[in-house]
Amino acid sequence: MAAEGTGTGETVGGCVCGAVEILVPRLGHEISACFCDVCRVWGGGVQMGLDAPAETVEVTGPVKTWPTAIAERAWCDICGTHLWFRYTAGRDAGYLELTPGLFPDAGGGHLARVNYADRAPEGYDMTGPGEIARVPAAQYEAENPHLQSEVRHDGT
Ligand SMILES: [Zn+2]
Ligand SMILES: [Zn+2]
Repeated sequence: MAAEGTGTGETVGGCVCGAVEILVPRLGHEISACFCDVCRVWGGGVQMGLDAPAETVEVTGPVKTWPTAIAERAWCDICGTHLWFRYTAGRDAGYLELTPGLFPDAGGGHLARVNYADRAPEGYDMTGPGEIARVPAAQYEAENPHLQSEVRHDGT
């Protein structure tokens, strides 16, 4: 869902503290999740990404990156929000995936692919070994009123 008002169809996203802003003219619609050993730990359980042409993405704010042999992972230096995964070498050099949580409604994307699916922990492979409760925001916040100062509501 492109942001209204820019006139260019850009999607505007950012980190939770607001210091990092990301403008994307063309954001992919397919979200991939990765359970590889690095993504699972770095991503806090699973890493998800939306592809975008790296050369068109504009980023402002305090960004830090962690380089590995063939890729980098980036986060906001203030709040720690994970921003992207990007190949920096090898066959896919330049390929960029932005974390869907940066964008309202995940940029309109949908989960289309789970990589390293056989490495997903049994406890949360997203299908679940048992019944999975799906608690809406209003119910969760009604049960936990102390969260009001912590949660961010996109678009408000
Ligand atoms: Zn931040
Ligand atoms: Zn991975």
